[in-house]
Amino acid sequence: MSALHLHCQNLFDATGLEARADQTLIVENGLIRHLGPRHQAPRPQPGDQELRAEFVMPGLIDVHTHLAFGNAQSEEDIDIWTSDEFRALRGLFFAQHVLAAGVTSMVCPGDSGQLSIAVRNAVNAGLFEGPRIAASSRVITNRQSLNDWFPSRVGAPEYFTARLVTSRAEALAEIRTQAKDGVDLIKIAMDGTQRRPNGDIIAAFTLDETREMVEEAHRLGCKVATHAYGREAVMYAAKAGVDLVFHAFYMDDACIEALLQAGSILAPTMTFPQNTVDFCQPHDPAIATGYAGYCARTLELGTPVLKRAKAAGIPFACGSDSGFAVTPYGEWHARELELLVERLGFSPAEALYAATNVGARCMPRGESLGTLEVGKQADFLVLDGSPLEDIRLLQDRSRIQAVYKAGKPVRQERTRYNPKQVSDFNSLKWTDLYTRERVAELGKWSL
Ligand SMILES: [Zn+2]
Repeated sequence: MSALHLHCQNLFDATGLEARADQTLIVENGLIRHLGPRHQAPRPQPGDQELRAEFVMPGLIDVHTHLAFGNAQSEEDIDIWTSDEFRALRGLFFAQHVLAAGVTSMVCPGDSGQLSIAVRNAVNAGLFEGPRIAASSRVITNRQSLNDWFPSRVGAPEYFTARLVTSRAEALAEIRTQAKDGVDLIKIAMDGTQRRPNGDIIAAFTLDETREMVEEAHRLGCKVATHAYGREAVMYAAKAGVDLVFHAFYMDDACIEALLQAGSILAPTMTFPQNTVDFCQPHDPAIATGYAGYCARTLELGTPVLKRAKAAGIPFACGSDSGFAVTPYGEWHARELELLVERLGFSPAEALYAATNVGARCMPRGESLGTLEVGKQADFLVLDGSPLEDIRLLQDRSRIQAVYKAGKPVRQERTRYNPKQVSDFNSLKWTDLYTRERVAELGKWSL
């Protein structure tokens, strides 16, 4: 088997925060066989390939991408429109866009049915190109969880992305089913719908219930991820030993302490609210309903506490919440690194470390991913400049010269698609209410 000798002007291996100059990376059979100073590297054998690169780093790991959502514009898009079969094909297609963007591994926390399990298996079997996937299934939800977003009388049919459990027994049975079906992680929706008089969100599950679910998931070899904006949700997640906590914008210092004790990884996933703030147009319902304003306030409120969490030593990973209309697949995965730098004061090297080394800890067989070291998977990016000088470089497709997964360059050109034919099947016909007063205001009618 011939080897690839990659001579790197600069290489960031993500074992620490330093980049090293003049390194040679040797790849064989999909693995890293050698890494060290160029002048000490073994000489290429006949048939080996030699390449030069300006900057090499591990492939990105996005710990928050919803493969089932299909760039959804609404909760109806997420749960009602499109068949399971179409969603699976769409998920497979977009997995390739994610990989082409330099994301060689992704965590899919919360999906419908067995979508991310199926895409993971198809990719692992070599049927299609795609990133490594940590798969989950439906989000464990109760009547208080945000994922039970339709009126109570609708509930959550089998094909929804939420699994509505009404008892502890049902929650445990669902975890056992998902483990049997082959998930890598269980997702629990911890934020509730009710608030205390002081505005605090009341957690959807009690601490006891959370502990029971996390314990059972861990017993069956699954990791646990949770959506938790609220202080109480974060606290219960930490006390129960959740592996990966998303958002945590409203936590306090006691939560930081609890997360540290639990060894939980935090992925604030600021890209979704930041894109909503930055991109929404006046006609978007997100403006009229105040949702964009809520996102802005959430980011403002969350920034100082997230900075304190970083200072306290909580490991941060990078997630984008891709899969919504405001975070289409393959487009915004690297924006989270920019936000870690701009909002939370990470150095670019710390942001790279979060998006590689820490992210790998959320993946199955994560010990073989996330850093460039001998014996590990050869998942890496070849860049024509240094993201340590400008973290935004990773968002510029023209600067990513190659994406390697398991030692092989992946296809970087993306098949174009019609965004309106993969999502937005809503039956909404009007975005305004044409009362006589409103129509008169528009100057379109008078008596
Ligand atoms: Zn999400």
